Amino acid sequence: MPTVHRNYIDGEWVESRSGDSFEVLNPANTDEVVGEFQSSTAEDAEQAVEAAVAAEDEWSSTPGPERGAILQETAQILEDQRDELAETLTREEGKTLGEAGGEVQRAIDIFYYYAQKASDLGGTVKSPSGTDKELYTKHEPLGTVALITPWNYPIAIPAWKLAPALAAGNTAVLKPASAAPTVAWKLLEALDEAGLPDGVANYVTGSGSEAGGVLTDHEGVDAVSFTGSTAVGTHVAQAAADDLKRVQCEMGGKNPTVVMPSADVGEAVDIVGAGAFGVTGQACTACSRAIVHEDVYDEFVAGIVDYAESIEIGSGLEDVDMGPHVTQSELDGTLEYVDIAAEEDGATLETGGERLTGGEYDDGYYVEPAVFSDVTNDMRIAQEEVFGPVLAVLKVSSFEEGLEVANDVDYGLSASIITQDLSEANQFAENVESGVAKVNEKTTGLELHVPFGGYKQSSTDTYREQGDAGLAFFTSTKTVYMN
Ligand code: NAD
Repeated sequence: MPTVHRNYIDGEWVESRSGDSFEVLNPANTDEVVGEFQSSTAEDAEQAVEAAVAAEDEWSSTPGPERGAILQETAQILEDQRDELAETLTREEGKTLGEAGGEVQRAIDIFYYYAQKASDLGGTVKSPSGTDKELYTKHEPLGTVALITPWNYPIAIPAWKLAPALAAGNTAVLKPASAAPTVAWKLLEALDEAGLPDGVANYVTGSGSEAGGVLTDHEGVDAVSFTGSTAVGTHVAQAAADDLKRVQCEMGGKNPTVVMPSADVGEAVDIVGAGAFGVTGQACTACSRAIVHEDVYDEFVAGIVDYAESIEIGSGLEDVDMGPHVTQSELDGTLEYVDIAAEEDGATLETGGERLTGGEYDDGYYVEPAVFSDVTNDMRIAQEEVFGPVLAVLKVSSFEEGLEVANDVDYGLSASIITQDLSEANQFAENVESGVAKVNEKTTGLELHVPFGGYKQSSTDTYREQGDAGLAFFTSTKTVYMN
């Protein structure tokens, strides 16, 4: 029998008032039910917000080092379960065990990082000399924050919202995506075991519009931190703006890697291949556009086709390079874009793009990684987020054109260039319209202590996540004049 996971509200594990639950399936083997979760009603979400509001005073007045100690203990509990968590993550989301282990480790590291930060939220003393006046700033928690997360990094993203929110003294309600809520549930279990007071962190699963809708509308919620698609994020930002809640939406991407003639083409292929096909292309920062100089275009296309064809696909629990898509609808979305690119856009399908069937593949959501060449910038495959292992290769004849094409999309999350020319590297870093700019690196992969976020339709772009920027979103600055 699959484990039934309850909501976590006010320190209790409770069933939804709906009496209904939904199943999460293993995308590599859809006969396996990974767990059952509550189909929460609006009332369940309201109850979670009310519990968080009631816990605000106690938690915000808990000394920072004590808050930090609970986060530190949480990190240790997660560390003890690292391998088990990685396996659960692979079972519910599909990424390979190696990728899942890396993600779980990131969540653990985030809790350790913000455990230290809880004791020092920053602030400055700027007293005018020769006066009796003391002038200083301090950072205060906002109150209750709503955290709405996607399925593709189901433990790292909840961790990088929950840990700074709690470190700063806020209370929280987390609503994870329904496709992969298990490892986030494990985070709450670890916080509970670490001694987090009742009501400080709450967890509800269920429909985005119903449970999630309450979190963006409820007057008890002071801020909303959302990660997900640009379509839903736009709605969330509008809903939160109705009563001037602080809001942060981190959304989709159409991330380019520009390949210049000075690049070692073999290295460029490895960098683009890892960025495009790692985690089955299901990363907001995945490289979905290779913008390649004409001098190395043919060699690059031949190389990336070989790369894609050498990828071993299968259950992430086995020794493979790439797991399945997370759900049938995500698989359908990728297959639809393959059709659009080939039929509507008229791009050349060099390899891949077929749903894999037969044997073990019949039980999961598997697709071959796809490479399209002869892509032009007006095509939908060059402009729209696919969220699967599909790479569009575009040809350019100069650095300037490469930069222009890189910028000519609605998104601006992560962008990279492969070049040995320092001047090109600098010009790219200065001029690319992207929250993350990388030189000779893949578009995916982040360091946890530096800001992360996007430009244009990738982000609301007023706050960043991670590092000190992650704390800035969850605090208000007060300036004190003491005469
Ligand atoms: P999604 O937008 O469908 O869902 C995200 C979350 O919003 C889920 O928890 C969902 O239940 C909830 N939701 C849905 N409707 C809602 C509503 N009306 N009100 C409140 N909440 C609602 O996204 P997804 O499919 O889970 O994730 C994939 C997307 O996330 C991709 O577009 C990807 O690029 C993006 N993403 C962005 C980042 C980033 O940091 N920029 C990171 C990871 C994923």
